[in-house]
Amino acid sequence: MGNCCIIVSPASAGHDLPCHPECNARLLDVLSGVLPDIPRRIAEPASDESVHRVHTPYYTTWLRQRSLAAAIPGWLDADTYVTHGSFIAARYAAGAAIMALDFTLDGEHAFALVRPPGHHAGHDRFMGFCLFNNAAIAAAHALDSVDRVAIIDWDVHHGNGTEHAFYGTDRVLYCSVHQEHFFPYSGRIEDSGTGAGAGYTINAPLAAGGGRAEFVAVFSELFAPALERFRPDAVIISAGQDTLFDDPLGNMNLQPDDFLLLTSVILDAVECPLALVLEGGYGLSHGAAVSSILAALSSPVSRNNEEKNKPCPGTERMIAEVKKRIPLSR
Ligand code: ZN
Repeated sequence: MGNCCIIVSPASAGHDLPCHPECNARLLDVLSGVLPDIPRRIAEPASDESVHRVHTPYYTTWLRQRSLAAAIPGWLDADTYVTHGSFIAARYAAGAAIMALDFTLDGEHAFALVRPPGHHAGHDRFMGFCLFNNAAIAAAHALDSVDRVAIIDWDVHHGNGTEHAFYGTDRVLYCSVHQEHFFPYSGRIEDSGTGAGAGYTINAPLAAGGGRAEFVAVFSELFAPALERFRPDAVIISAGQDTLFDDPLGNMNLQPDDFLLLTSVILDAVECPLALVLEGGYGLSHGAAVSSILAALSSPVSRNNEEKNKPCPGTERMIAEVKKRIPLSR
């Protein structure tokens, strides 16, 4: 497996609360299932300059002070905890996302298997287990050297922080599939970008219970055509596997093997390697899903014999609604 690597961060262990779903044990479980022949690279911390492309210096300073003052784990809100090691963990997680992106620019797929996750974090706020927005920081870093970056967010929760960061630009295509009427209660079909960014945000909310047919339809009919039109120079996946059937937080119905197919659909639609950044994923089968993703990166599956199950009527209606708002073909 010479064409993909994972990026790990020992600092992730410093942000931990064992009774919380977003704990270090979930990451250790995933890492224990990664095949030993996949190269592991050690993350470096993101610089202040990189973090400040997305977050305000005021927020960064506040988070550093709040973290260093946390002699014992404390709560920033009802969902998000902070420990003495949280700030360092967050800086390394952002650095790992940047490193993954840089590997892709050198021609190699890379998966940053780090935490805390990031896609809810806004420019001046933590939210929903997230401190720094790792995917957005990597995308902003990429825009220094390339013209166009696509972000595919397949976490069960809408990535409101990432959407907001690039809502007004045509240099970032943000595509999110997520469970509708669910935390953080954003990501409506109507929210499709503003100004120069109009049409460059694609939100595909799915009803609870959706499985392979629903996700394949969204990826094949919405995301793949949009990627082919956009022709990104770099692609970031906000890879949250909390859409699995056994996830304790989400209510979707994917099987671990489905991630092999979904990853392959994206690979077919773009010409550059993928930079994946871990978001959610809290169930027992999470490790198997990550292994499926890594398997797809190593040898993409053929989609010729793919069994095509029709999505439910609600998903077909949602896809038709999105197509009306987004020009998917030139
Ligand atoms: Zn999530």
